[in-house]
Amino acid sequence: MGKRLPSILTSYNTIRVGHSCRSIQIVHNTADLSAKLKDQPESIIIGGGSNILIINDLEQPVLIINNKGIEIIDEDETSVLVQIAAGEIWHEFVLWCLEHNLGGVENLSLIPGKCGAAPIQNIGAYGVEISDVLREVRVIDRASLEQRVIKAEDCALEYRNSIFKHELKNKVVITHIVLKLSKPDHHKLRLSYGAIQQELSSLESKEITIQDISRAVVKIRQTKLPDPSDLPNVGSFFKNPIIENCIYDKLVVRHPDMPSYPVDEKRVKIPAGWLIDKSGLKGYRIGDVGIHVSQALVIVNHGTTDGLEILRFSQFIQREVERTYGIHISPEVNILT
Ligand SMILES: Cc1cc2nc3c(=O)[nH]c(=O)nc-3n(C[C@H](O)[C@H](O)[C@H](O)COP(=O)(O)OP(=O)(O)OC[C@H]3O[C@@H](n4cnc5c(N)ncnc54)[C@H](O)[C@@H]3O)c2cc1C
Repeated sequence: MGKRLPSILTSYNTIRVGHSCRSIQIVHNTADLSAKLKDQPESIIIGGGSNILIINDLEQPVLIINNKGIEIIDEDETSVLVQIAAGEIWHEFVLWCLEHNLGGVENLSLIPGKCGAAPIQNIGAYGVEISDVLREVRVIDRASLEQRVIKAEDCALEYRNSIFKHELKNKVVITHIVLKLSKPDHHKLRLSYGAIQQELSSLESKEITIQDISRAVVKIRQTKLPDPSDLPNVGSFFKNPIIENCIYDKLVVRHPDMPSYPVDEKRVKIPAGWLIDKSGLKGYRIGDVGIHVSQALVIVNHGTTDGLEILRFSQFIQREVERTYGIHISPEVNILT
């Protein structure tokens, strides 16, 4: 048995838990990834570590995806197809799009993490999801080490979910994503979110650009969300629960102020942050773990190095919400063991 690397994982996860692992290696390209997977097929994959909770010392080797490259692979009059390496930082890619005046991802500005993880939970913010622009996901199959292309329509992309969290979980590693982005004069601006409209209201006289939208989103996010480098967190810890209309109709009689957003004809989505807040838990803290004082959906780490303490706190929150509203809230974060 080799020597363990104590607490090495602290700098590879944004909620800053400090478990150990046997080895940690940075992956620079597809051939490198293939070789490492051949030697260590059970490796745990980490991108930017902004959507993981490690709850114990890891027995498996860890691979940090860091391949780079952004390439326009096709285009027509109105759009381009861009292939992005999984190791590119998502927001740096958004900035590249703004610089090249390519539209489609501006509402997703400032989401932490790397591009390879983006399809895994179908990242979304301010009325846009990556499914709106995703065309292909390129992967290496862990078992055969073959490279293959998965079309976006076969990725089962839905709210914070995809095939990569189910059938293909731990079966493939994403090496690249391919997005279809609009060229100048063909952008479709997504301005339906009230907060974006409010931010842009001062620009009334001017034609709104994708750069304006990105600036507005960055400003909103910087005022609303705690920066993990100041207060470690993984963003929204829980998903917004989706419930049947008939259950909502009963709940709203007892809780007339409960907000809801239609999902389809039969179901509505309830903001998990509202449920946590109204259960009296905003700002609630046990030891070194707590709910953020102004963002009830965000669990913050005030100093623990033990991911299990965070998991236990999250389970307490789940129980309290279930006790108060009879609604189960599930973690959005990926729990690594
Ligand atoms: C402050 C903050 C705000 C956030 N806001 C949003 C938001 O608005 N919307 C949103 O959707 N999310 C948000 N998130 C969550 C997070 O940023 C995204 O889910 C992001 O896509 C995670 O990327 P990552 O590289 O950090 O993934 P990681 O945390 O490293 O990994 C996440 C999961 O994907 C797997 N994985 C990572 N890379 C690969 C790969 N190449 N191949 C196969 N599996 C892989 C990992 O094993 C793990 O299971 C936020 C997080 C924070 C901290």
